[in-house]
Amino acid sequence: MQKIVLMGECMLELRQAKDGLMNQSFAGDTFNTAVYMKRTFAQQDIAFMTAVGQDTISQQMVSRCSSENLNNQHIFAKSDRNPGIYLVQTDEQGERSFLYWRDSSAAKQVMQYVDQAAIDELCKADLFFFSGISIAILEPQDRDAFWAMLEQLKKAGVKIGFDPNYRRRLWNSADEAKAEFAKAYAASDIMMPGVDDFKQLYDIESLEDILAFCQPFGIAELVLKNGPESVYCQLDGQLTHVAITPVTNVVDTTSAGDSFNGVYLGARLSGQDITSSVNLAATAAGIVIQHPGAIAPVDAFDNIHLS
Ligand code: ADP
Repeated sequence: MQKIVLMGECMLELRQAKDGLMNQSFAGDTFNTAVYMKRTFAQQDIAFMTAVGQDTISQQMVSRCSSENLNNQHIFAKSDRNPGIYLVQTDEQGERSFLYWRDSSAAKQVMQYVDQAAIDELCKADLFFFSGISIAILEPQDRDAFWAMLEQLKKAGVKIGFDPNYRRRLWNSADEAKAEFAKAYAASDIMMPGVDDFKQLYDIESLEDILAFCQPFGIAELVLKNGPESVYCQLDGQLTHVAITPVTNVVDTTSAGDSFNGVYLGARLSGQDITSSVNLAATAAGIVIQHPGAIAPVDAFDNIHLS
């Protein structure tokens, strides 16, 4: 059994329904990745790492993790803050927009609960995965502690995985994001960006430019997603292209990249090669985007061989 820890923020998701009612669920990029990884690779020990409060929504969030069979060992439940919330609205043209209330969420404080004993436990993991959102939401004064923790994990032999998931509004400036991301690239054994991350942050989007940009960081495994276009993987310098079959009935692309990441990493850790891991991940993501919301129904992958 492999142990994977995914760190980040899970939020209460409110989704506009009929007659002024709202559907409530839980979502957040690394949480979504953890859920899809565990659903498809149940034999692996998957832990979501975050901080929550003492309130009922925090308790429901922890129960939600349990109901997805995640390991809750790295959820710190001592904060006096509440979880973040986001609201998904859909206009008459079907365009979605998001409103967030997350500036003082409990998850921002996670590093304040990470002592040496917690780091020692994390050092037992095979893979530690985080995203640009995981770092963006940290209290700025806690970021040094995060990078120091990552250094200890690397020294202990834990592989590091990173998805930039660049979100402009979460950063004070693009330069701040670039500086933090550079540390993440340098630490990463496996990186799973989208072409969009590079387009938005560095104004580059061709495969050649992105590979040249990443080259100095010595990332062993680079997985470059580009929506329905293609996936390119570079493993130890060897480039593989995998074509994607576009889905025609796209309902909601939320979590496409997150579900892809979860299934890809689960497959790779189970010993599958690059091409079959990408194919499984793309199949899963292709199903996820045919359902509304970040987390598809639990039976969405029934009858599909994903592991
Ligand atoms: P992100 O959500 O991080 O922006 P992408 O948009 O690149 O990520 O999507 C991640 C993966 O989801 C893609 O690599 C692909 O496998 C799948 N995917 C996304 N959009 C489509 C689509 N329209 N048809 C089929 N697969 C898709």
